[in-house]
Amino acid sequence: MSERTIPILDHRYASTVPRVPANQKAPVGLLADRLGRPLHDLRISITDRCNFRCTYCMPKDVFSAHYEFLRHAELLRFEEIDRLARIFVNLGVRKLRITGGEPLLRRGVEDLVAMLAKIRTPGGSPVELTMTTNGSILARKAQALAQAGLSRITVSLDALDDAVFRRMNDMDFPVRAVLDGIDAAQAAGLRPVKVNMVVQRGVNDDQILPMVDHFRSKGVVLRFIEFMDVGNTNHWRMDQVLPSSEVLARIAARHPMHALDPSVQGETAERWMLDDGSLEIGAISSVTHAFCRDCNRARLSMEGKLYLCLFATHGHDLRALLRGDAAQGIVAVSDENLAAAVAQVWGVREDRYSELRGTPAAEALRGERRVEMSYIGG
Ligand code: SAM
Ligand code: SF4
Ligand code: SF4
Repeated sequence: MSERTIPILDHRYASTVPRVPANQKAPVGLLADRLGRPLHDLRISITDRCNFRCTYCMPKDVFSAHYEFLRHAELLRFEEIDRLARIFVNLGVRKLRITGGEPLLRRGVEDLVAMLAKIRTPGGSPVELTMTTNGSILARKAQALAQAGLSRITVSLDALDDAVFRRMNDMDFPVRAVLDGIDAAQAAGLRPVKVNMVVQRGVNDDQILPMVDHFRSKGVVLRFIEFMDVGNTNHWRMDQVLPSSEVLARIAARHPMHALDPSVQGETAERWMLDDGSLEIGAISSVTHAFCRDCNRARLSMEGKLYLCLFATHGHDLRALLRGDAAQGIVAVSDENLAAAVAQVWGVREDRYSELRGTPAAEALRGERRVEMSYIGG
């Protein structure tokens, strides 16, 4: 089967159907891409819809009433996600993260969690199963998610001040509901809850210290993320990026703290602990300190396209191989063929956008249509 471009079906982002290598054997051992990076982490985006319009992610001028979201039939069914996740785990993935859009909006998400929680590595161990959510309906869902087998959860929260939070989600959504969601997740045993704050200079940087004060002694890990130039629509400007070094300096000026060792290889966050042990802090410096050389993450979109980088302009259409596509002359393939196709795609990966940011190669990509964060998840 040869690689082919699908120009009409994919009205959003360019993609190709991966080639199933001729005479393929099921891949053995761990995969490594062209830069020697393993495939360890799969982020699965299950919907492109969201009930927020965070100004840095789904600005209302683009994600308006006229925006064409995917139809339900275009989304991978839970059985298809489960099948692909099993294939990825056999290829070395040890962490699955459910994301979106807002993943809790997908009906029956607990059933998907229950399916994925049953997956075992070839050695028989469970895989880490987590989710990133805006927390808006977590208070009602936390118990069911924990019962279904979710290991942990990350909640995005950009401000404690209600007015700032309402302005940033741009749906006038109150902060109280997200704080209740965090409490419910902890009560349900989803520990530690990680809270992610995207920091934008001049927008919510005055919230850094209130967030630290609020989450001390609550058993939460608080992580600060630099505002990134993902996609083409979020009006990113370098002068709105508050470098993590500055975030940490502001906290350290108030609270003495010390660095912690990375918990796992490929960890995106630098970790710190307040000296009194009351709060672990993470800093994710995606812009000022690129971590591409350890990037072991692949991303699967809700319609079954595989992306090798947050800044990708091109996806690999696994749904076409899963379902087959008569119009394109593509037949549905076996798990072994899918695994071989994924292994081949990963084997030639050389993405490292953040390391190249600002160079002519990366600037050329900026002119192309790149995936949006709400499509590919964080
Ligand atoms: N809706 C869920 C949520 O907000 O947690 C999951 C999807 S959201 C796209 C995943 C993460 O990406 C969130 O933590 C969000 O804050 C982050 N994010 C979105 N756009 C970003 C940007 N331009 N720079 C940095 N982080 C961003
Ligand atoms: Fe929705 Fe999450 Fe994007 Fe905010 S960051 S608009 S909650 S997908
Ligand atoms: Fe990974 Fe791409 Fe981000 Fe680099 S820019 S860390 S390769 S997702």
